[in-house]
Amino acid sequence: MKINCIGTGTMGSITRGNQCILIDNIIFDIGSGVVKKLEEKKIRTKDIKYILITHSHADHFADLPNFLIGRSIRNENNELLHIICGKGMREKTIELFQLCFGDGEKDKYKDFEDKFNVKFVELENGETFENNEFKITAYELEHGGCKPILGFVLEKDGKCVGYATDTVLCPNVKLICQRSEIAFLDANSITATKSHMSLNEVINMQNENKNCMICAIHRGDYEYNKNANIKFPEDGEIIEI
Ligand SMILES: [Zn+2]
Ligand SMILES: [Zn+2]
Repeated sequence: MKINCIGTGTMGSITRGNQCILIDNIIFDIGSGVVKKLEEKKIRTKDIKYILITHSHADHFADLPNFLIGRSIRNENNELLHIICGKGMREKTIELFQLCFGDGEKDKYKDFEDKFNVKFVELENGETFENNEFKITAYELEHGGCKPILGFVLEKDGKCVGYATDTVLCPNVKLICQRSEIAFLDANSITATKSHMSLNEVINMQNENKNCMICAIHRGDYEYNKNANIKFPEDGEIIEI
């Protein structure tokens, strides 16, 4: 399995783009700037069939209009796109489109699914989405007052990939690491905040989960100990497991 680290930064990072990883036709998060990064890699919107969205903050969500409208303009929307997210995200998505492109038309997005050929799959803690290629389990995380906030475990090709950002260190982060061969964790800053894990907490997850390769993502531009026993993927890096 190839995991393409499209964006690995937190907001405020100069050296890294907003959060996004790509596995085959699935992307995790679609923050502002992600679509251009995909296009630079010759990955077209028609190549993506599933978008997993952790939460509605702009650095994880705000490029969805760019993605869906660009896909429509280029007639790349013949196949259904699944948007897998937390409860209420469909409504937030329509609010975002209405704000950006409503142009005074009150009901412009009432037939959102038909207009963009998408299906929302809203999951709660522990719920799964499954087809004959993969299975996704949602895990509720803790990210200040932001709700819903989900992490995911993707089971595909006999491998488990964990994804937990943005979040403080909570029991479900530990569960995601225990289940996964590789886990991408929120290493926003050196010290923990009310909404994010610290780099040291991420390093500790590696110490507690020897069978899981821990990757520090959603990183600010801080200096870090390059000898730490975890991965620090950069934008554009491909990890093979
Ligand atoms: Zn956030
Ligand atoms: Zn974020």
